[in-house]
Amino acid sequence: MIVAETFEGARAASAGLVGLVPTMGFLHEGHLSLIEAARRESETVTMSLYVNPLQFDDASDLDRYPVDVERDLALAEEAGVDVVFAPSPDEMFAEAPATAVDVPAFTETMEGAHRPGHFRGVATVVTKLFAGLQPDRAYFGRKDAQQLAVVRRLVADLSFPIDVLGLPIVREHDGLALSSRNVFVTGAGRVAALALSEALRAAVDSVESGERDANALVEVARKTLADAPGLDVDYVELAAQDDTSHPAVLDRPAFLAVAGSVGSVRLIDNVHFDLTEGEVSADLGIRLSGPSILYETGPPD
Ligand code: AMP
Repeated sequence: MIVAETFEGARAASAGLVGLVPTMGFLHEGHLSLIEAARRESETVTMSLYVNPLQFDDASDLDRYPVDVERDLALAEEAGVDVVFAPSPDEMFAEAPATAVDVPAFTETMEGAHRPGHFRGVATVVTKLFAGLQPDRAYFGRKDAQQLAVVRRLVADLSFPIDVLGLPIVREHDGLALSSRNVFVTGAGRVAALALSEALRAAVDSVESGERDANALVEVARKTLADAPGLDVDYVELAAQDDTSHPAVLDRPAFLAVAGSVGSVRLIDNVHFDLTEGEVSADLGIRLSGPSILYETGPPD
């Protein structure tokens, strides 16, 4: 495995079909599932490791973001990554960028509404990674469903010759969607956090008993969340997978997204609904059978 600090170095270390897995590090099984998919389908698997300051609307959130580069490199190597692109701050932005990539029609609700500037930061850096690393495929998690829609659209609008793949959410054994931030969720906070996935489960049950009305599904999820002391809910919204618009009924591929905070830790989750010949199928993702690797080394400093 080669660790490259420059775009040029990463490109020079790549050959054949390149699969890119963009990450902010502190890897868990969600990231590893993206690497595994890339490994199956690419000659060179490149993982970027960059905590993108442009996408943090809250400076204290950036300060506290968990970092353990040695751990990430060991996990990446074990998972079969060929090239880790770990740029220095200067390689990414020697000076503040004068260019920004925005996908406003997709980012006015949900995460976009609650984290001003977040998606501009994501879209600008993803565009830069695509331009600098020139992958053939790029792998993203459906955990960040709005982000996935934004990336798909910017790739189409800017004609990047890149296939964007979206992979299922990986969950901890109790249902909590894996996030690097979970290391900070302990004790009573953990119980509160579980309400997010339980709310989605309740909505899935409702869909399975025939409910299709968006407001009714949002209400079902909200009811579960209301019973969780210690969880500060930001939103519950049903959005179309392709353009994040809000359908009145579940008549197209969509996702029900929830977000909230447990103390100062912000968590998001969603369930994907797909339609085949009018039949709705729900995809909550995959559950680990035991504890996540996140907890093997204890929380970072
Ligand atoms: P991050 O390091 O949090 O920026 O995430 C890097 C990539 O991993 C993004 O495409 C995320 O959507 C994806 N990812 C994060 N958590 C999960 C998860 N629990 N399941 C699947 N993919 C995930």
